Amino acid sequence: MPANRRRQSPEQVRDWIVQGVERLGLEEIGRRAAFRRGYRLLEMSGLVTAQIAQRHEQRFPVARRLAVADQQSGNNVLWFGMSEQTRRRNGEAAVDGDCPCRGTRQIRAVYGEGQDQLAMLCPVHAQASIRAQREGNWQELPGGRA
Ligand SMILES: [Zn+2]
Repeated sequence: MPANRRRQSPEQVRDWIVQGVERLGLEEIGRRAAFRRGYRLLEMSGLVTAQIAQRHEQRFPVARRLAVADQQSGNNVLWFGMSEQTRRRNGEAAVDGDCPCRGTRQIRAVYGEGQDQLAMLCPVHAQASIRAQREGNWQELPGGRA
């Protein structure tokens, strides 16, 4: 783990990554990565609740360190690429807490008592539908659910 602000060699950074994986285990690393991606997807859509933000901050208490880890992760992908298994796993996202979609995969906008309508698909729980829509393969599922 870095103890100072000095720029570290790529080998040192990779050693720290291995140390972290050994300390936490692959399953926990995957769980945290899914929560990180879920948080990021909600954040980009302005859907982070106080509960989700609190849990994210407990998991990553130093925002600067998380930003550096994100940058290093991006650099590793740039220079070393990813296996197909890693590429598929990277798309996994989860919410640590109650998702704003409440399990419906839909974010609804409320315009008044009893008046609401679909505002957007949940960026975490409707990823497959969103991806299909972007690829032009959109199909409404039975019951109008995304
Ligand atoms: Zn959701």
